[in-house]
Amino acid sequence: MSKLTTTKDVFKITLPTPFSVGDVNVYVVKGDALTLIDAGAKTEEAWQSFKEQLAQLGYTPSDIEQIVITHHHPDHVGLLDYFSKDIPIIGHPKNQPWISQDQQFFAQNEPFYKELFTQLGLNPAFVALINMDEEFEYSCRRSLSSTIGEGDTLEGLPGFKVLETPGHAQSHIVLYREEDGMLIAGDTILAKISPNPLLEPPQFGETSRPRPLIQYNNSLRKLLTLDMSKVVTGHGDDITNAHHLIQERFISQKERAYHVLKMIEEKPMTAFEVCSRLFPKVYLRQPLFTISETVGQLDFLEELGEIKIEVVNGQHIYHSN
Ligand SMILES: [Zn+2]
Repeated sequence: MSKLTTTKDVFKITLPTPFSVGDVNVYVVKGDALTLIDAGAKTEEAWQSFKEQLAQLGYTPSDIEQIVITHHHPDHVGLLDYFSKDIPIIGHPKNQPWISQDQQFFAQNEPFYKELFTQLGLNPAFVALINMDEEFEYSCRRSLSSTIGEGDTLEGLPGFKVLETPGHAQSHIVLYREEDGMLIAGDTILAKISPNPLLEPPQFGETSRPRPLIQYNNSLRKLLTLDMSKVVTGHGDDITNAHHLIQERFISQKERAYHVLKMIEEKPMTAFEVCSRLFPKVYLRQPLFTISETVGQLDFLEELGEIKIEVVNGQHIYHSN
């Protein structure tokens, strides 16, 4: 477990999670306010580990003055439940229904998912495997105290600016400090893996689903405009060569997309058929991750004009152009 001091004022704490991604990193920033960036998954083990590592920095949880979340996934927000009800929780507005487990929001989304799953050609047995309850067990029931968005600065954290980086999550933001090129990246870029462009329902009056991989690539392009000398992330090691890593990620994503195109050229298929061929070993174990990744590549190809959709009985059949 790495417990490295990242810079003079940003300290990394690595916590266990019950998820296949492994440990998650959260950060203590000694700004004008003692700020925590992200909280781990809600397990007793993570909380004990958090308290021990915080003690090594000379603090207890009650010393934390505010918490900023990079996005709403359980491994980044679950431990919020362990903090005092009075502590300010700050994040993008799109976190709110997820971190509060808003039942009305979930109910509203049911028709969306039903239609989407039909379009993607998912069979009912596969749909039954997409069980979100398990994830929510490790999430929290909290509310944002205030919201942030593109270009905002944060009270108590002078020098840092908020940038919206949707893709992996619609709620995703990063914190960038121009003065020393420090980027607190959440899951936007990770040293060893590409984050999954997870499918999410529309929010705030949007009428169609977001296209998460397209958004994600745009978010990476936005990061390329920054001088990033030090990037700290939600999982794994810090990144020192972010520009190079992003270029590599673009190349490998394009390769994956063209592999999908080859499959479609041989035979027009639904997203589900592509998914089961693309991930024959894991698609049943990780249904949401694998179908999201597949839809991402299909959206990418469609955007490039390489493929088109034919609608048959509500199902989307992808053809090469
Ligand atoms: Zn995440």
